[in-house]
Amino acid sequence: MDTERICEILNRLSEVYVGGVYPGRSSEGLNPEWPADPFHVLVATILSQRTKDDNTRRASDNLFNRFGTMEAIAAADPDEVAELVRPAGFPKQKSKAIVDCCRILLEEHGGVVPSETEELLELPMVGRKTAACVRSYAMGIPSVCVDTHVHRISNLMGLVSTKTPEETEYALMDLAPRDRWSDINRYLVRHGQETCIPNHPRCSRCVVRDLCDYGIRRGSTAAEAGRTPP
Ligand code: SF4
Repeated sequence: MDTERICEILNRLSEVYVGGVYPGRSSEGLNPEWPADPFHVLVATILSQRTKDDNTRRASDNLFNRFGTMEAIAAADPDEVAELVRPAGFPKQKSKAIVDCCRILLEEHGGVVPSETEELLELPMVGRKTAACVRSYAMGIPSVCVDTHVHRISNLMGLVSTKTPEETEYALMDLAPRDRWSDINRYLVRHGQETCIPNHPRCSRCVVRDLCDYGIRRGSTAAEAGRTPP
C-alpha cells in the first residue's frame, strides 16, 4: 500500500539525511527538532526561489548581518536591500517583496508572521510552497512543502502522478499520515540534492531503490548512464 511505502521511504531517508534542511540554512549542526525563527524562514524561502541553497545562504547572511530585524528591513532603502540579496538572483523583485512583506507584517500582523495559509498567501512572493515551508519548519505545523525536488521525486517513485506542484501537494497529503507531512520536504530535498539528482539519479547507491518505480523499472545502469528520467 502506498501509505506504507511512503512511510518506509521516509524512515530510510531519515537515517541517511539526519535533520534535513530548510532553505537558506545548512543541515550541519542543525538540531532536527526545529522550529526555526518564522521571520527568518519566511525571508530565506522567498530568497530561495529560483536559486540554489548556497546562493540563498549568502543572500540571507548578507541581509541579516546588515539588518537584524523586521523593523530595520521595513525602513531600509530597497536598493540597498537589492544589493545585499543579489547572490540569490532577481534582486529588485526579491528586495521589493521582502521590504513590502516586512511593512505588511508590521502594519497588519503586529510584527508576527501569521500561521494560517490563507494569510501567508497574501504576502508578496509567498505561494503555497513558501507558506508550507514557514508553517512546517518554523511553526511545527504539519505541512507538505512541495519544491521541484519533491514534485520530481514523488513522480519518479510512482507515489503520485501529477503535473503541478500543487497537485503533488494535495496527492501527498492524501497519501501520507499527517504526522509525516513535514518529513516529506525535509528528506526528499536532501535526497534530490545528494542522490536522486535531476537527470542523473544515482540509483545504485539509493537506499529506497526497491521502493521506487523508476529505480525498479530502469535499473542503476540505465539511470547512471545519463538517461534522463521521465
Ligand atoms: S531509485 Fe533512483 S530514481 Fe528512484 S529515488 Fe532512488 S535515485 Fe531516485
